[in-house]
Amino acid sequence: MTCPIEQCLREVSGPLRLCVAHFHLVPAPLRQALSSFARAHNRGPAHRAAFELAVESVVKTLAFQRQLVDTSATQPASLPYRDD
Ligand SMILES: [Zn+2]
Repeated sequence: MTCPIEQCLREVSGPLRLCVAHFHLVPAPLRQALSSFARAHNRGPAHRAAFELAVESVVKTLAFQRQLVDTSATQPASLPYRDD
């Protein structure tokens, strides 16, 4: 299967079900929960819920990062520029 994050086509093998880059965007407590579920081979509702939360949180983080980039790009006043 591939990583479930938008436009990420990295192949995912292993129990974490997110590529390494995106897994590291998951908040630490949730990451620990996912790791321990994965270790326990627990594919029950708790694992699925934690995984869905993790995906949601990564999507939010990516949107936030995009917003930061957009904001700085559309504010030329924030560039160091002097005209004297
Ligand atoms: Zn990914």
